[in-house]
Amino acid sequence: MKKILILGSTGSIGINALNVIRKFPGKFKISALTINTRIDLLEPQIEEFKPGLVVVQNKDFAKELKRKINGKCEVRCGKDGLLYAAANIDYDILIGAMVGFAGLAPTIEAIKRGKRIALANKETLVVAGELVTELCKKHNAEIIPVDSEHSAIYQCLVGENKNYVSKLILTASGGPFLNTNKETFCNVTVKEALNHPNWNMGNKITIDSASMMNKGLEVIEARWLFGIPRNKIEVVIHPQSIVHSMIEFVDGSIKAQIGLPDMKLPIQYALSFPERLANDYPRTNLPKIGKLTFFEPDLNKFECLKIAYDVLETGGIAPCILNAANEVAVDKFLNGKIKFSYIPAIINKALEKFENHKQPDLEMIFEYDKLTREFVKDLPTGHTGLN
Ligand code: NAD
Ligand code: MG
Repeated sequence: MKKILILGSTGSIGINALNVIRKFPGKFKISALTINTRIDLLEPQIEEFKPGLVVVQNKDFAKELKRKINGKCEVRCGKDGLLYAAANIDYDILIGAMVGFAGLAPTIEAIKRGKRIALANKETLVVAGELVTELCKKHNAEIIPVDSEHSAIYQCLVGENKNYVSKLILTASGGPFLNTNKETFCNVTVKEALNHPNWNMGNKITIDSASMMNKGLEVIEARWLFGIPRNKIEVVIHPQSIVHSMIEFVDGSIKAQIGLPDMKLPIQYALSFPERLANDYPRTNLPKIGKLTFFEPDLNKFECLKIAYDVLETGGIAPCILNAANEVAVDKFLNGKIKFSYIPAIINKALEKFENHKQPDLEMIFEYDKLTREFVKDLPTGHTGLN
């Protein structure tokens, strides 16, 4: 029986993780659940999965929950509560399903304890990929990716020698604006940007998918997860999201992992690896799907993907600045404060603002995350510096 800590149990990945865990009551047990604010969703999870501890980021919500559940489990709050859960309670696998930079600190606590990390929170690897992978080696912790593309590559690598990999091919759906003209990006609405054709996900990653920053973050994530340099990581648009990603080997052979767009499978794989557990999820019917198409991404249209590629090349503190600027810019767009087309411009402004530092330590990463957020928050609304 594996004991599980979920960071972000009320989000899209968190709920899907609980859907998987519910199917295998003899295999997995919940030790603790952590969330930001949605105690209305957490309460039934406590009833059903009976965690020993829950952590609610928001103090007032934590108090309210404590009153409501009347001693059914321990309730802690804030960042301290989150770190306490990762660093102290008894668990085997941490599911990193929080969104954004906030996932980094608790993930590091789990790594220091040599745990398995089922990682959805790609931002952790984007901002501190080198440090995180080094720490994993030092503490004998393992990261099994939950991101569908990376899970696909992980699955394709089983039984293979990494020296024979000539490139990783990450597939991208292209998001809701695949066939939209770039000139209209200044007018797209939040509703249109949130309308992803294939995946039902949290708001932040859905906007990242619309700008294709998500694929940019995934290129950086792949760099660190698989130890493959930037020039061997390619992105291919595949609007059907059936081929989740591929590896090309030195002999020209390509291996792909195929499945329906459903996060339950990569989550389940990250929990059960190296075992595979039989399930009753819908099967992929290729004749019914009929046609799979692939083409090159337009880096001129999807500037965010280009910026992420460049930032991976630059290295140092630049990916941390990119991530923080993107998180704040996406938040501003979601709150109607900036146009969609300003997102890449704002990120470029932040990257220009700060000098790069090679080999940042964790302290510097936390500092630059904060500095970049302050800088982008204070940019006058609508200001891009480019118009
Ligand atoms: P979401 O917004 O639906 O859920 C986020 C969860 O994190 C919620 O439970 C929320 O309560 C919690 N949370 C947010 N901020 C927090 C904070 N400061 N402290 C504590 N808890 C906090 O997001 P999601 O779509 O589930 O995505 C989660 C992560 O997984 C992201 O990094 C995303 O890029 C990645 N991911 C998601 C998908 C998907 O299909 N949704 C696929 C691949 C990767
Ligand atoms: Mg993905």
